[in-house]
Amino acid sequence: MVAGAQPMIHMEQLCHSYPGSGEVLSHIDFTLQRGEMAFLTGPSGAGKSTLLKLIACLDRADQGQLLVGGVNLRTLPRRRVAAFRQRIGIVFQSFSLLSDRRVFDNVAMPLVIRGLYPGDIARRVRAALDAVDLLRAERAFPLTLSGGEQQRVAIARAIVAKPELLLADEPTGNLDPALSAEIMHLFRRFNEVGVSVLIASHQLDLVRRMPCREIALEQGRIAAPAPASP
Ligand code: ADP
Repeated sequence: MVAGAQPMIHMEQLCHSYPGSGEVLSHIDFTLQRGEMAFLTGPSGAGKSTLLKLIACLDRADQGQLLVGGVNLRTLPRRRVAAFRQRIGIVFQSFSLLSDRRVFDNVAMPLVIRGLYPGDIARRVRAALDAVDLLRAERAFPLTLSGGEQQRVAIARAIVAKPELLLADEPTGNLDPALSAEIMHLFRRFNEVGVSVLIASHQLDLVRRMPCREIALEQGRIAAPAPASP
């Protein structure tokens, strides 16, 4: 099969429990097509972060099928997990930037880990910072930037290695409504150039203004779609 014909994410009857907390994801069926952008919604505790962690292979599902970029994550050998994760960019609510490193070095991190040449790193870091409109901040330390700017640095770090899939867990949870909308449109821009995007958010007002599919989770299950208004 041609790699491009496979969905970006495909899960069937996916279940997950944590020790002592019972089943937190229950029989999830979900497909994200390549090039699609979608939102995972639901109240706190619904299982959104857990689902993203399974997709990023930060944890392993107990049962069911999970294919990401054609890779079967239920059977992926441990030694291949790091290479798999390099195909994915992840953005968290808390930005997760290193405060003692300059913006440039934070964004460069995934490329340094891959062992790229310094000249290539510099070119790609600047392209990523330009894409989030923060080229001017390359020498700044993260804590001197606003929350919205710090999240844009985190997005630059997530896309600098040109991932096929961008995952974001409540990326606007710490931002005010105007900045949140800006960040969502930034994700949309990356999606428009071909990156598949899946964003967990409980901010329904924001999500529903975006022209994207919404998958609602409720207590670890996919909620039935709301009936169409008459
Ligand atoms: P959401 O992202 O929608 O808020 P989570 O995936 O974080 O939901 O959590 C789903 C459920 O799993 C919650 O009941 C939460 O308490 C539980 N949970 C999450 N992480 C752990 C963990 N590491 N150990 C035990 N229970 C957990």
